[in-house]
Amino acid sequence: MPVISIIGVGYVGLVYGAAFADLGNTVYGVDIDVPKIEQLQRGIVPIYEPGLDELVKRNREAGRLRFTTDYAEAVPQSEFVFICVGTPSTFDGDADMRAVRAAAETIGRYLCGHTIVVNKSTMPIGSGDLVTQLIEQTKPPDATFSVVSNPEFLREGSAVHDVFHPSRIVLGADDRSAAERVAELYRVLNAPVLITDRRSAEMIKYASNAILATRISFINEIAQICDQLGADVKVVAQGMGFDPRIGPHFLEAGIGFGGSCFPKDVRALAYMAEEAGCHPQLLHTVLEINLDQRRRFVRTLQDVLGDLQGRPVALWGLSFKQDTDDIRESPAIDVLRMLLQRGAQVKAYDPVAIPRAAAVVPQAQYVGDPYAAVEGTDALLVATPWNEFKQADLARVKSLMRTPVLLDGRNLYEPTEMRALGFVYRGVGRGI
Ligand code: NAD
Repeated sequence: MPVISIIGVGYVGLVYGAAFADLGNTVYGVDIDVPKIEQLQRGIVPIYEPGLDELVKRNREAGRLRFTTDYAEAVPQSEFVFICVGTPSTFDGDADMRAVRAAAETIGRYLCGHTIVVNKSTMPIGSGDLVTQLIEQTKPPDATFSVVSNPEFLREGSAVHDVFHPSRIVLGADDRSAAERVAELYRVLNAPVLITDRRSAEMIKYASNAILATRISFINEIAQICDQLGADVKVVAQGMGFDPRIGPHFLEAGIGFGGSCFPKDVRALAYMAEEAGCHPQLLHTVLEINLDQRRRFVRTLQDVLGDLQGRPVALWGLSFKQDTDDIRESPAIDVLRMLLQRGAQVKAYDPVAIPRAAAVVPQAQYVGDPYAAVEGTDALLVATPWNEFKQADLARVKSLMRTPVLLDGRNLYEPTEMRALGFVYRGVGRGI
């Protein structure tokens, strides 16, 4: 079985490393984050991802999954080296390629024999060429390599499921035989494989995230109109979704998308487009609507409560979506900041994201129980669609609050039921 190096063991790299090990490969997880690697070497998984603890444990114990900070220990003996480092937004919206550059240069230094380097991080169009050049500059003269673009489509919160059940495997390469060898690694998963040129593969990732983000902003615009005209966006989306040309997915109105992918990838695509002389108006609008949603949410609270100065308010949800502790670009965190800035006294609860939130917004009060969070408050804002919020005892919530105002930023509840319970209820696009 092949030996694989995974460079960067974050949300993508760690799940992939563990999954490839589970498929029988020998995997080295390499990261420059020393505390993270020390934790992983002791069997501690540093992120919350359902099923990941078990997957890592099983493969560590079987000796198929090892962690190191030392490229020299992993790269020379690897047939495949996957680049899974972060590519966050720069200040002006471009993808920050510093980690990719550093990884490529270091990989180059340790290449031995023939190696296939796989770009799994989301990288701007043309990055396959860049990674090739950087490796060329540092590699030993007798080492050879091919670079294959293999963008990733997993979703945080269901990443373990997604890696074993991918919708498709996209492989972009100049060297078709290298792409075919990468395809072999995935063969047991029985997913459709598309082999194409590198630039098209890189674009498939950006275009896929952009259309998903566009659907969310589209339905959010429809939600705004529904609010004004007295229609219910949830029913509207349901009615639209039956049409096979439209489909039901990504038509959930709310306070918008967040996370480490959609916002940054739409920004990066818009940036690339502008640099190339295009005018990406749709992409800009998708981002603008998305930010509007969280501002409108807080404005709705002000419409109901008036001045927020000194008002006790509960916030349920901090992660950018359910089943993850990731708070990167989380709409909930923006809402939290806006509430604090307007002088509200916020008690925030999330099943897993409190430690990460407290590290970036220390001024809020965090409580470890959803009911304790609402006690004595004038409003409850629901910002993340965790199942535990859907199943909460809302009658109990109401009895604990000082004023029963419920702002449902994820349309988890039925307006009529909430009003029957005695709440002043506002959803997103539910016809006020
Ligand atoms: P992450 O920030 O969780 O992990 C990146 C890891 O890379 C970190 O542990 C960091 O320490 C490490 N790193 C940075 N520089 C390094 C270097 N020079 N050598 C070794 N390790 C280094 O990021 P992520 O969420 O896993 O995303 C990784 C890439 O995958 C990004 O390009 C992202 O857009 C893409 N992606 C992410 C998701 C997702 O849901 N998170 C889904 C699809 C694609």
